[in-house]
Amino acid sequence: MPHDLPKAYDPTAIEDRWASYWVSEKLFDQPTPSKDDAGKGDPFVILLPPPNVTGRLHMGHMLNQTEMDILTRWRRMSGRRALWLPGTDHAGIATQMMVERQLDGEGTSRQKLGREAFEARVWEWKRHYGGAILDQMKRLGVSVDWSREYFTMDENLSVAVREAFVRLYEQGLIYRGAYIVNWCPRCQTAISDLEVVHEEQKGHLWEIRYPVFSDDRTDSDEFITVATTRPETMLGDTAVAVHPADERYLHLHGKKLRLPLMNRIIPVITDEWVSREFGTGAVKVTPAHDPNDFALGKRHHLPEINVMDETARINGEGGVYAGLDRYVARKKIVADLETQGLLAGVKDHINNVGHCDRCKTVVEPRLSTQWFVAVNKKAEGRGASMAGLAIAAVKEGHIRFTPEMYTKTYLNWMANIYDWCISRQLWWGHRIPAWHCATCGKITVPRPNTSADPTHCAHCKSEKITQETDVLDTWFSSGLLPVSVFGWPNVGATNRADFDAFYPTSLLVTGFDILFFWVARMIMLGCWFSADVKMPDGSERPPGASVPFREVYIHALVRDANREKMSKTKGNVIDPIEIVKKYGTDAVRFTLASMASPGTDIAFNVARTEGYRAFANKIWNAARFIFMNVDKAAEAGITVDRSALGSMPNAANDAPLEARWIVAELHSAAATVNQSLEEYRFDEAASIIYQFFWGSFCDWYLEIVKLRLDFSDTAGRSVTKSALTTLVQVFETSLRLLSPFMPFITEELWHAVYGGNPPAESIALARYPNANSETLKVEAVIEMQNIQQVVPAVRARRKDLGVPEKDSVPVVIAAAAPVLAILGKDPEIIEKLAKVGPLDLITLQDRSHEPKYAKLAWQALGNTEIAVVYEKPIDVAAERERLKKETARLEKLVANDERQLDDEAFLGKAPAPIVEGKRRQLAENLLLLKKAREALDALPPE
Ligand SMILES: [Zn+2]
Ligand SMILES: [Zn+2]
Repeated sequence: MPHDLPKAYDPTAIEDRWASYWVSEKLFDQPTPSKDDAGKGDPFVILLPPPNVTGRLHMGHMLNQTEMDILTRWRRMSGRRALWLPGTDHAGIATQMMVERQLDGEGTSRQKLGREAFEARVWEWKRHYGGAILDQMKRLGVSVDWSREYFTMDENLSVAVREAFVRLYEQGLIYRGAYIVNWCPRCQTAISDLEVVHEEQKGHLWEIRYPVFSDDRTDSDEFITVATTRPETMLGDTAVAVHPADERYLHLHGKKLRLPLMNRIIPVITDEWVSREFGTGAVKVTPAHDPNDFALGKRHHLPEINVMDETARINGEGGVYAGLDRYVARKKIVADLETQGLLAGVKDHINNVGHCDRCKTVVEPRLSTQWFVAVNKKAEGRGASMAGLAIAAVKEGHIRFTPEMYTKTYLNWMANIYDWCISRQLWWGHRIPAWHCATCGKITVPRPNTSADPTHCAHCKSEKITQETDVLDTWFSSGLLPVSVFGWPNVGATNRADFDAFYPTSLLVTGFDILFFWVARMIMLGCWFSADVKMPDGSERPPGASVPFREVYIHALVRDANREKMSKTKGNVIDPIEIVKKYGTDAVRFTLASMASPGTDIAFNVARTEGYRAFANKIWNAARFIFMNVDKAAEAGITVDRSALGSMPNAANDAPLEARWIVAELHSAAATVNQSLEEYRFDEAASIIYQFFWGSFCDWYLEIVKLRLDFSDTAGRSVTKSALTTLVQVFETSLRLLSPFMPFITEELWHAVYGGNPPAESIALARYPNANSETLKVEAVIEMQNIQQVVPAVRARRKDLGVPEKDSVPVVIAAAAPVLAILGKDPEIIEKLAKVGPLDLITLQDRSHEPKYAKLAWQALGNTEIAVVYEKPIDVAAERERLKKETARLEKLVANDERQLDDEAFLGKAPAPIVEGKRRQLAENLLLLKKAREALDALPPE
């Protein structure tokens, strides 16, 4: 049998090989089901949150994918038809920026290239460099269906995007409007609130006097003073607002002001929204450059004057400041106000400034024309709005969040959701399928089934039409994934097998950061569009079958070992690929799993990964030990019975204790692991497996089994055969239990267990162990507990007494009759494991009444007591010499420590942990000194 494993466990030697085997053998492909698959059980379907096509794998991905892979492998091994679907997102802003940077290096630009050439250039970039993250995933062995890999700009997915847009437009849910948006002057596009990062910054609050414009059309002596952190926006002011009940300004109601620098006459308006307590109680109103002012302007029908262009330079509306960058204009405006005596004051002020999440440029709230989805509007013929459907799906329990608290977060956000701005001023992405007419000004949105682009306006037949230049927000396409990857909108009579089998998906595993970006949008779009797809039997789709997924598991953050958030600026980012190279994928996966539980952030500590590499090593060595003995037995003509291999082990009632016990432990571990995974308690599952494998299997069971192996004596042959049979079966099952967590080492060893001729192509296609309550032998566990209590106690006592390791020593154990019966059944276990010879088992009564027992040094372990009988033969003279030397050595150490701890200079300089360590060391040495002196006194006199 090709059992001969290399001596040392070396992940690099096995992982690459299995990773490419899994891909090349298409082990995890889940083809479109045929009619014969109908009875094959409930599928388990999960979508990979598509990483950006520009992305590189980070620890967050590694955690996300480890969790998904554990769950998918576990469900697959548990008999579900598992489908994990991978793909990448075209990532509008990120990808466009990447290519723009490249062009910049070549001395050209996107504008010089023109739109078509630029798009071609991005596709070229994508072919060469895009999707590197998927190759990283392949190396990590994730069990996805690569045959279904998608890219959000693929032809079929683009068809879905276009259909979705057209349908929403026809339903009256898409409109165009002037809106105040977060504008990134660098990316030159609107970005969503969620893509704006707020940071506190030191800035100023400028107080500016606006002269009251009197009836005789000149300035009066009176002013209203307003305060602003962005003085350049005053160029677009169209009013000053005060609270209607503010007594300071009652006399100015209905009056007008002269806007300094622009000489625009603007009204004083009253609005309850204005806070009387803040500043002077008067605020300037710039509807085109502030979201609150925008709303105020709408209420009071104020003009909206946009004073900035796409690059945040002052435009033609900004008078003499036109052409200046916003910050240059700010300086000049402040200086001019000062010259004119209109600057009332400047205060230091901490501003909460919004930055573009992508490029870190300060965003400028700015009025622009955008496309929106009216998520709160009910479409004709639909009883609810998109947001309404998405709220109901969760409220009615069709989608369940773990941790549960995210249900509230989600519902809260959805209850306050605004219309969704879906346009982005980019060139890379799905271009909005709408055409503007230069003749009548109306918009044409043709049905997508007319293959070519329209040639004339649908309203006036003019041929002067041009396509909208904006593209759609990337979340518009990724929000459609749960329906589009299964063929929507082309789910017809003949091509609906995927949709019928795999929609709704089972689970979504994702981070909190995209709960709203992505999760909420998938729910809105998924519920909205799938409702149009009839059920396989032709009936209407009920809400429970409209949701894009039934469960959402929100995973935590991976932080560094000190619980700090990883960031490039702090320099504490851990690259998963580096760690994988050093310790192997299995050890890194196990580290993440061992700390992953709902709602808890992970403090990634490499020391733990080192520990789990040692765990893998331990398993490797156990395998080598097992294979060596199986081979030895074969040479002696003893063959292991392999007939039950692959199923859950069982042990007969008359089987030896260790066999009955390890089988019981295995069943119990399997039961807990299955339950823990059901509840996303990865940490609990990992810990159970670790304890089982290392503690129960290696430390106890293997040690006891060694006693049963006898290859010479004919009387022991059946014992040996039976012991090896159970050993191999338990080991094989344990590998299957561990496999979702450590897929590589288990694959390697599992193939070896079967001598290279396994019953399936991969352990990932074998059955996951599950407990059988009938075989749970509680009494075996209780019996074993007695042995597990006695053996370590005897070992510790031997050490205390200084018994040389290789020597056997007589031990007396006093206990109640039932315990004595257990221990006496197989005394060899204790005798061999604790090197006892002979073992004397007595009752508690004898222990108190028999004089020869009474004088022993007893140690109580609950109701059991042990006594190790050992009188150390000693050479008194040599022992005195040794103790004298030891006393002198300790005295010196103690004196040293005391001197240092008295030294103020040392105490002042040394860090607290060093001083603390010194103190502890001194206490220990004092104790040792006391013991040595007592031992010296106890020696017989010279
Ligand atoms: Zn930006
Ligand atoms: Zn027209």
